[in-house]
Amino acid sequence: MADLNTNVRYIKGIGEAKAKSLGKLGIATLGDLINWFPRRYEDRREIKPISQLIPGEPACVSAMIASEPKLSHIRKGMDLVKVRAVDDTGALDVTFFNQSWLKNQLRVGETYTFYGRAEGSLLRKSMASPIVEPEGRREHTGRIVPIYPLTAGISQLLLSRAIRQGLDSCADILPDCLPDGVRQAHQLCRVNYAYENIHFPEAPEALDIARRRLAFEELFFFAIGLKLLRSRRETVSVEPFQPVDMAPFYNALPFTLTDAQRRCVEEAIADMQSGKPMNRLCQGDVGSGKTMVAAACVYFCIKNGRQAALMAPTELLAEQHYRGLAPLLERLNIRCALLTGSTTVKTKRSVTAQLATGEIDFAIGTHALISGSVAYADLGLVVTDEQHRFGVAQRTALAEKGEHPHTLVMSATPIPRTLALILYGDLDVSVIDQLPPGRKPIETYAVTSAYHPRLYAFIRKQVEAGRQVYIVCPMVSENDELPDERKAVTEYAQKLQTEIFPDLKVAFVHGKMKAREKDAVMSAFAAGETDILVSTTVIEVGVDVPNANLMVVENAERFGLSQLHQLRGRVGRGQHQSYCVLVSDNKNDETRQRLKAMTKTADGFKIAEEDLRLRGPGDFFGLRQHGLPGLRVADLGCDTRLLAEAQSAADGLLAEDPALTHHPATAERVRKLFQQSENSLN
Ligand code: ADP
Ligand code: MG
Repeated sequence: MADLNTNVRYIKGIGEAKAKSLGKLGIATLGDLINWFPRRYEDRREIKPISQLIPGEPACVSAMIASEPKLSHIRKGMDLVKVRAVDDTGALDVTFFNQSWLKNQLRVGETYTFYGRAEGSLLRKSMASPIVEPEGRREHTGRIVPIYPLTAGISQLLLSRAIRQGLDSCADILPDCLPDGVRQAHQLCRVNYAYENIHFPEAPEALDIARRRLAFEELFFFAIGLKLLRSRRETVSVEPFQPVDMAPFYNALPFTLTDAQRRCVEEAIADMQSGKPMNRLCQGDVGSGKTMVAAACVYFCIKNGRQAALMAPTELLAEQHYRGLAPLLERLNIRCALLTGSTTVKTKRSVTAQLATGEIDFAIGTHALISGSVAYADLGLVVTDEQHRFGVAQRTALAEKGEHPHTLVMSATPIPRTLALILYGDLDVSVIDQLPPGRKPIETYAVTSAYHPRLYAFIRKQVEAGRQVYIVCPMVSENDELPDERKAVTEYAQKLQTEIFPDLKVAFVHGKMKAREKDAVMSAFAAGETDILVSTTVIEVGVDVPNANLMVVENAERFGLSQLHQLRGRVGRGQHQSYCVLVSDNKNDETRQRLKAMTKTADGFKIAEEDLRLRGPGDFFGLRQHGLPGLRVADLGCDTRLLAEAQSAADGLLAEDPALTHHPATAERVRKLFQQSENSLN
């Protein structure tokens, strides 16, 4: 008897080698196998008469073998089987390469279904190496055929046959983790029907029904998991923070906070006074001033006599925060320290010691802040910046350095509301929906590379006016290999320096450089010592150089809208008129549409929604990086209504059965789903 935990080798045709290949896809058991869903489907239901085959187009025909199959050896290692097949409307020459066994399998007078690309002329039609199946056994012809993501050594045919067997052996024991009441209330099909039809749909309608059920299920369990996370947190009590006079902090700032910044600060402060640990996301477009919101919270925490930590995803950002915040806070008697991978051993030792005794109030740094040797005397607030680079696990690891410290997560990725609900279902959200005053909109242009001479003249003009320029460099791949960013950046920088701007200072930075080298280049740029910075997308996140006012993106078609928006957000941070020039020779309609969208809108949320519509959530939003389980069926771009339904169903179920004691199957499924982020469930 097989069950979902049975090894895939149970399946006929899966030996050791194939099992190993399947292992690369993460398929080890029958359960994994039947949960390997098609990437897409091909509708091969229509059987065409031979006379209507169109050369160049794939199609199915049903035809009788009219001649004895002929086998010939063309050369060593190359056999050919030729056969003629006919239907009422015409004849078809069929050839198969290296499938010599077909010579004895195809029988004259029997009818077969063929699927392949028609070739030849209107009068003499042919097909080369079509899929062939006996009439009445339609796996890959005459039906809607699933197309699976594959790996080396595994073919579509093999995989779909294995899945067929897997489904047949598990059909009666598939557990339905969706409570019956929920299933009925939302008019969802049963689990057997769903699995059968997600793999082998009889009709498009059946596929829709199956997909809807499986998508709902994913969203439902996801929502439950997040709600459980949240409710566990809500049972924790902490000493409420006391009110603090914030005037000294506000007076020390070189500007007044915007209303939106102010509101976010107040929301966070209210959380910290509530007696429950804060778990808040502060979301704001690039340049909206998230850093000062964090600083205000840090001030509030430290004036409550507790320590605070700010974790950034790169050394560059950590150092930038340190340079920006330490002078401000130290004037307010707050002792700050920087802790990154390149902090010297000696400094690290002293900082660690002072964090442990509480002599340092505020630590700014990278992952170094969560390394094993670092301990805090009394950590009260944890801020993580540019959160989409961190996983839940890292967020949690820093929080675990304290007794339920408050956490504030800052994200520059404007995430559409639908997605925020999913990704941050366990967080409260504040939005900074306003930019600091006096910002001029960034003028954005989409041009072709023919524009380069004029573009170079424009760059020169900006530099002569005292400004600085970013150029995100072209990435050229040779022979389809992944582009070499180091080579691309250094070569382009060299070309600009020697041929175009011999009199200007050109520098470059890329991800393969050592953190210290990178930092030296960035600091020089921030200090105005270099004019033009050629880089890869390492400058995508968070870097703040207000004097830079021109962003040039070469091969702009390579970037998604949200990424372009992040890049563009590196300029327009000071009082100068800023520009963004997107260079692309790509003529693809969708690309042109995307670049055009960039010239039309500056609103990060609109752009993110457009991006979601054009590209789907994919991994750009880093579902996996979040340490949250990825969604395989649900499409957050399209399934908004379903998401709302699943959320309310999750609310309903938890209201009735908060600990899921009466729904063990559901509880088990949720537990599995969140296994990777187990830490955060405890
Ligand atoms: P982001 O939200 O992208 O992290 P930053 O915190 O880096 O934005 O702020 C962007 C720039 O705007 C910084 O140079 C910062 O000093 C400035 N800034 C922040 N808040 C204000 C404000 N209320 N008024 C004027 N400038 C501000
Ligand atoms: Mg920032």
